[in-house]
Amino acid sequence: MAILTVEDLSKSYGRIQALKKVSFSVPEGSVFGILGPNGSGKTTMLGTIMDILKPTSGTYKLFDEAPTELHRRRIGTLLETPNFYHYLSGVKNLEIAAEIKQHGKEDIPRVLEMVDLTKRKDSKFSTYSLGMKQRLAIASCLLGNPKVLVFDEPTNGLDPVGIAEIRELMKTLYREGKTIIMASHLLDEVEKVCTHVAILRKGELITSGDVNEILSNEDMVEVGAKNS
Ligand code: ATP
Repeated sequence: MAILTVEDLSKSYGRIQALKKVSFSVPEGSVFGILGPNGSGKTTMLGTIMDILKPTSGTYKLFDEAPTELHRRRIGTLLETPNFYHYLSGVKNLEIAAEIKQHGKEDIPRVLEMVDLTKRKDSKFSTYSLGMKQRLAIASCLLGNPKVLVFDEPTNGLDPVGIAEIRELMKTLYREGKTIIMASHLLDEVEKVCTHVAILRKGELITSGDVNEILSNEDMVEVGAKNS
């Protein structure tokens, strides 16, 4: 099954064409990187599939069907930094997130364990490292046990320890059977974490497919490297 199928998707902001007839498919069980430099259309792509933006033309499917709100509820998203309360504990913040998302609180111990924050759950958010803060954000995405996760630049702004933690966490989630769609401007991140990739440049799809096949192609590495 394809988790996401994008067909000839275009999106313009006035005169700016952020996406130009982009088509690709995300297989179930993959870590799918959308790779490209700033301004290549990655955020626009993620915003469109999550119905935050309307496409100018083209279509997409979720779970092989015309997308609905029910499909989107099966997807955990981290598109921008969540507003956690600095003076509250990690677990309290997750309780508030669960309430907002209308998920049961019984899921919280499981998601804390998944992101390795059980021991620090009662510490104030303000005492967390950058990596821990981002792991809490991912924990919030995992509430309700979605099979699919969509992350926009999940390691952006983190220190090297935090980057390593988040990359490791994504590999763990992949091993547990999640499909992850993530935007990144870092070729080495995609190489390390992803099983599949779509390379975007100036809103156009350069190529997409198996990460090893694409990144072993000299020309594509060149494009990706320039993009990073
Ligand atoms: P970044 O990593 O910088 O977010 P990106 O690859 O995610 O880059 P987008 O943010 O999707 O790219 O932007 C694609 C193009 O669309 C850019 O030229 C950007 O300036 C433009 N753009 C994005 N959002 C808007 C908007 N709300 N109004 C006008 N132009 C926009």
